[in-house]
Amino acid sequence: MRRTSAPASALPRDEAPDPDAVIRLDSVGRVFDADPPVHALREVDLTVRSGEHLSVVGPSGSGKSTLLNILGLLDRPSSGGYWLDGVRTDGLADPERTALRGSRIGFVFRSFPLLPYRTVDENVMLAKIHRAPHPDRGRGFRRERAREVLARVGLAHRSGSLPGRLSGGERQRVAVARALLGEPALLLCDEPTGNLDSENTASVLELFDVLQAQGMTLVVITHDDAVSARASRRVRVHAGRLRQEEA
Ligand code: ADP
Ligand code: MG
Repeated sequence: MRRTSAPASALPRDEAPDPDAVIRLDSVGRVFDADPPVHALREVDLTVRSGEHLSVVGPSGSGKSTLLNILGLLDRPSSGGYWLDGVRTDGLADPERTALRGSRIGFVFRSFPLLPYRTVDENVMLAKIHRAPHPDRGRGFRRERAREVLARVGLAHRSGSLPGRLSGGERQRVAVARALLGEPALLLCDEPTGNLDSENTASVLELFDVLQAQGMTLVVITHDDAVSARASRRVRVHAGRLRQEEA
């Protein structure tokens, strides 16, 4: 069973802690200081269980990236509670949040610049791993790890290639490989197929299926119906409010 450090009294009434919840938001709000203030998220409740693939859809400006930034511990809620793996995160200090992010979360964005004169495995090796330095974990170890994650995303045969030779789908698989380097349990993706045609999108979606089958939890923001249709569950954000989509 997963550890649950939040005391029961900190949980909302009538709700027992869910041992399988990777993510739990309780009435999360986010207000940006502006004139007038921007209520980017309002009273958002969300539970994401281990091994789920959740898609988040909604119009531009509705609060999707704000939500993802909070889930990724890149931003803090203005109100409400956020539990990641049973740990209440909103009160944690920055170093603890950084450590938690580095050990639990991988990010994939719409695009990600690959260094053109470095091979694919070198590009993956450049990803930061937020773990304590280990004397045996030098360059050889990092290259080995990079090749492992490249194999996991189906790109073992591309390790030594230069990025210019890759298709758009392969480039996003490299981005996923980088995200996997820190062995996260949760992958947060903001429009991961936003720059891809349908064929390359399909190749990324196949990878998401494989990762989910291996136990990864995925939260994927998308505008693409074909992408959201692939998720195990859908939520829609509209004007900062979140609601479940019909199955
Ligand atoms: P989406 O990703 O759905 O397009 P965002 O989460 O980026 O939407 O933005 C939601 C709302 O919050 C928008 O009105 C946006 O202008 C506003 N917003 C986002 N970030 C900031 C910020 N740092 N400061 C002020 N307003 C912001
Ligand atoms: Mg956005």
